[in-house]
Amino acid sequence: MTEPVRKASQREQARAILIVGALALRAAASCDAAVAEAPPLPPPRPADLIPAPEPKPALQPPAPAAPGAAAPTCLSRLVAEGAHAEAAPAPAPAGEGCKVETPIRLSSVTLADGDLVKLTGEPLLDCGFALVVADYVRLIVAPLGEAMLRAKITAIETGPGYECRSRDHIAGEKISAHAKGLALDIFAVDFADRRRVAVERQGGVDEQSYFRAMRSAACGWFTTVLGPGADAFHANHMHLDIESHGPSGSYRICE
Ligand SMILES: [Zn+2]
Repeated sequence: MTEPVRKASQREQARAILIVGALALRAAASCDAAVAEAPPLPPPRPADLIPAPEPKPALQPPAPAAPGAAAPTCLSRLVAEGAHAEAAPAPAPAGEGCKVETPIRLSSVTLADGDLVKLTGEPLLDCGFALVVADYVRLIVAPLGEAMLRAKITAIETGPGYECRSRDHIAGEKISAHAKGLALDIFAVDFADRRRVAVERQGGVDEQSYFRAMRSAACGWFTTVLGPGADAFHANHMHLDIESHGPSGSYRICE
């Protein structure tokens, strides 16, 4: 350190002692040291070298409630978060493996601004799965629709949720997530300006972009997303479920 600089530093310290005392001076000195030792920031990386973002939404989906979670607790949380839902009688066991742990019927979801989005099929779902669906509607489907198509969403055309059947209705296949109330099929999204964005085919470029965006976002929200192009069974709807795949349960199917 040069002589003038050292003197200046001493004067600074003496002034600080007079003002805030020895303790505050020590804190300030250590802070200055940290700033002095901080390495310079690297130059910003060129745009074409920045890796593509992960294909998942910024908002993390909620962890699904464990199947069998106490019905009143899950249902009261679902209702408290703005969903219109009610406990439903357990469906009659129509086949092996068909069972909904905590059956509820989900009829609509309240958005942040208080507007309602109806689920036309009033699907019968496991309550833990309904929490995930309600958040997907509230945080993705509705705000994305309003932002991209400049109109409010009024309804989502859905299937019935629960169905006691094998996958893709194929005899001998594994039991479907629908048979546990852990799956929902979406056929279309209805807007306040009377526009209808069908999963099967969208009317214009904006509608196509909107559907692509909500479909991609679903892949971060659910563990299985199957839609048009995946196979013949999903040509006219988007199937969403939260079944775990693979040995670790972290594998996702997004087609
Ligand atoms: Zn389905």
